[in-house]
Amino acid sequence: MAKKLDKIIVVDIEATCWEAKTPENMESDIIEIGVCLLDVHTGEISDNRGIIVKPERSTISDFCTELTTIDSALIEKEGISFADALKTLKKEYLSQSRAWASFGAYDLKQFQRQCTALGKGYPFGPSHINVKTLFALKNKLGHEVGMAGALTKLNIPLEGTHHRGIDDAKNIAKILYRLLA
Ligand code: AMP
Ligand code: MG
Repeated sequence: MAKKLDKIIVVDIEATCWEAKTPENMESDIIEIGVCLLDVHTGEISDNRGIIVKPERSTISDFCTELTTIDSALIEKEGISFADALKTLKKEYLSQSRAWASFGAYDLKQFQRQCTALGKGYPFGPSHINVKTLFALKNKLGHEVGMAGALTKLNIPLEGTHHRGIDDAKNIAKILYRLLA
């Protein structure tokens, strides 16, 4: 499929997590896919959304709720299946024909792991942009920094709630646009 490079899909996932080790009978599951589109010409950020996903192999710990604010009540109310979330990315965000970006390699690896484990097709094309690495290279830092640190260095206020995918995706899009400008 021809690549559409007018807008980049910026993604930030939240997943079930624990303070210490993953419990023996569980696997970390994506619980929110934060996503938005970044217009590479204008910097406009659109279609910003947090797709809440029902975990299939784990439950939400108190630690996870403290980190992300996502709790079982929100999952019950808004959660859709992982399969439906992947359909949304493909149909509404054209994820197979656009480049996509995330802050670090974690999001890419988690999508690969979870798609393989649950027998689902990977929803993205081959073009992934690692904003964390790009930011460190552009600024010749010699090492990578976290999203909040990158925003501080750029004098961009952290908008919304850190560790909520919907807000992290938007903040990452702002960092990426500065790198492209
Ligand atoms: P983030 O995009 O930084 O909000 O992190 C994405 C996911 O990484 C979170 O939803 C957690 O599953 C995991 N994570 C982030 N920070 C921590 C932490 N301090 N301890 C355990 N898991 C974490
Ligand atoms: Mg996040």
